[in-house]
Amino acid sequence: MPPLSNRTALVTGASRGIGKAIALALADAGANVFAVATKPDLLEEVCVACRAKGARAIAHAADVSAPDAAEKAVERAIADLGRIDILVNNAGITRDNLIMRMKDEDWSKVLDVNLTGVFRFLKAVTRPMMKQRSGRIINIASVVGLMGNAGQANYAASKGGVIALTKSAARELGSRGITVNAIAPGFITTDMTAGLPEAARTGLLGQIPLGRLGAPEDVAGAVVFLASDAAAYVTGQVLSVDGGMYM
Ligand code: NAP
Repeated sequence: MPPLSNRTALVTGASRGIGKAIALALADAGANVFAVATKPDLLEEVCVACRAKGARAIAHAADVSAPDAAEKAVERAIADLGRIDILVNNAGITRDNLIMRMKDEDWSKVLDVNLTGVFRFLKAVTRPMMKQRSGRIINIASVVGLMGNAGQANYAASKGGVIALTKSAARELGSRGITVNAIAPGFITTDMTAGLPEAARTGLLGQIPLGRLGAPEDVAGAVVFLASDAAAYVTGQVLSVDGGMYM
């Protein structure tokens, strides 16, 4: 039997990049998928692909930084798919600049989406998962949240916050059968990293022992592991999926 049969996953940022790969990998592993992102068209395409794998899949257009987005999404997911076993907080944005040039609005927008959005979705699933006495929460952080990065103070702070939130939630929810872990991807080839200049890309490769950039599927494999029974005794951890960039 596939490892995630009869489980339901809510995945944010599921329309493109890493989130799309996560949704497809979860469907491959037997899970039903409730997919969230702002733009409905790409999201529906991902759901069509999940259904082709035999999963039930629902596209739900929402901005994770809207105050009521999480409550509404969780309510609909439970109404339409019965329950939520797995939450993957993946939606994220960048608004890069040096600190001296960073506008308040770019600081706030990145924190709103990348950290407050994660908090709200995590909070919204807590009650139903506590009732079930089981649940898996997987937050997509970043190597930058561990190492910092010049030109990404807002993004690094948001991802460092996600890591601290993950550990706090793991301590709070462990006794209720809920595990909470983070994944810290390194440099993954998606729209988010498409604009990186060639020289910077070559420089990065020199810091990666495995000698290649990551693919979205590299991150999706780690999500399936953390969602599966094989990871039942793993909580509060930050799993780096970065080709050895940070160790
Ligand atoms: P991406 O290709 O830019 O995709 C971002 C996804 O998030 C899209 O599905 C987008 O959907 C969704 N999204 C953005 N803002 C949203 C909002 N306010 N509400 C709902 N959905 C929203 O990025 P990615 O590279 O796949 O990154 C996915 C996650 O991995 C992010 O948290 C990112 O920080 C993290 N990460 C990425 C890398 C990397 O190298 N790529 C490295 C480390 C960590 P819409 O277009 O519909 O808004």
